[in-house]
Amino acid sequence: MESIKRNVLLNPGPSTTTDTVKYAQVVPDICPREQEFAGLMKGLREDILKTVHADPSDYTTVLFCGSGTINIDICLNSLLPENGKVLVIDNGAYSTRAVEICQYYGLPHIDLRFPVDELPDLSVVEQTLNDNPDIKLVHTTHNETGTGILNPIREIGALAHKYGAVFTVDTTSTLAMRPINVYDDNIDFCMASAQKGLMAMTGLSFIIGRTSEIIKSKDYPKRSYYCNLYLQYDYFEKTGEMHFTPPVQTIYATIQALKEYFAEGEEAKWARHTRVFEAIHKGLDELGFKDIIKREWQAGLVVSVRYPDDPNWSFEKVHDYCYERGFTIYPGKISTTNTFRLCALGAIDEEDINDFFKVFKEALNKYNIAIPAVYNV
Ligand SMILES: *Cc1c(COP(=O)(O)O)cnc(C)c1O
Repeated sequence: MESIKRNVLLNPGPSTTTDTVKYAQVVPDICPREQEFAGLMKGLREDILKTVHADPSDYTTVLFCGSGTINIDICLNSLLPENGKVLVIDNGAYSTRAVEICQYYGLPHIDLRFPVDELPDLSVVEQTLNDNPDIKLVHTTHNETGTGILNPIREIGALAHKYGAVFTVDTTSTLAMRPINVYDDNIDFCMASAQKGLMAMTGLSFIIGRTSEIIKSKDYPKRSYYCNLYLQYDYFEKTGEMHFTPPVQTIYATIQALKEYFAEGEEAKWARHTRVFEAIHKGLDELGFKDIIKREWQAGLVVSVRYPDDPNWSFEKVHDYCYERGFTIYPGKISTTNTFRLCALGAIDEEDINDFFKVFKEALNKYNIAIPAVYNV
């Protein structure tokens, strides 16, 4: 097996993958309607449940072909009963995306906004639930990837349940990285795509959800054909297959990635991401760069860094310098502040971050950007 040029991706997914995962895609051609392929997907669906400690007697995994946003779309449009309302707890770009999905489908919803650098106020969440008994679905984002803030999903889930609502959480940027337990974390539905925490390829997304709620949703208003949760679930149950063509090669890669996930182990993997995250902070601190979110609120996977107030600073130039040397850095996603992001996901470790900072510092020197970084406030 020839090794493939290794790039260190510090963007929030797709992530750096192992060569064994890349090569797992190179397999004989197969029609995904063959029993052999259905068998692979059955094992994959069961293994995905284990990543969040979900018991197959309560939860099921439903696979979809698409990027992670398809999961948010599917959960919101499929799990809202007639006359119900969605409550989105919104302190960042990914929860705002959920609000936009509600708008596109015309779903009754409340966009409960909080500042992007603050945790949601749980007393306001509770008051909103209390004032709106028609809220049947509560949605939020676990690690708001736009900033790296960790939302208190366990507490939000408990409130959702207290007021009789289903709780859906966008865990795309935590699942298979930061440990999740659907029971302890009060999660009815969570989701991710294969190219993030699992360190596989793009094109496969999945929802892990309470089977009883999916079955209940059979009679809810049907708002999409391709993106209906019950329809896809039912097809899997009856045939073992995806309703429409699955991303075949990505599924092979994901099966390999899950083997590697279980071999590394949940705790060891989280410890590795934490090492990477701390190395990112150490490198930034040494160069005087400042981040946006209070350190104790960060999920440990994304660092959102403020642009220095330096006339020579140019994200594009620094990006290009690093990119040419195998390191990818990523723009921010906050409308009010200029930021860039460094993320701790993928098959990387501390040494990669140390190597990255050597290159990053060279870029700063080359473009006469001051070290330590200059900030006016
Ligand atoms: C990556 C990500 C998604 C999915 O984004 P796509 O562009 O559709 O891949 C959704 N939610 C969160 C929190 C994410 O980090």
